[in-house]
Amino acid sequence: MIDRRHFLLSSVALPLGIVGAAKSAQALMYEEPSVGLVQEYLAARAAACGGSQTYHQQLLADLRTTLDGEKLPAQAVDQQLAQATCPLCGCKLTRT
Ligand SMILES: [Zn+2]
Repeated sequence: MIDRRHFLLSSVALPLGIVGAAKSAQALMYEEPSVGLVQEYLAARAAACGGSQTYHQQLLADLRTTLDGEKLPAQAVDQQLAQATCPLCGCKLTRT
């Protein structure tokens, strides 16, 4: 049997639980990384594929060979090459 006190406590606890959940969601806020950490991350990304353009040029040549084998129109090949990114560092393979 639910008495008056139990009913009032449970009806107050629900909104407080929602407020508590909203406060805990604030703990998941995005925080900008420090400048030093960003630079370390970018350096590690660049070093992942040797830090040179040699690997990128090889990937680009391999992709061009693959696309030429599919007999796509030249415009479609150029568009795919322009959008290609390195699987290791995420940089674009073509320089703009
Ligand atoms: Zn790369």
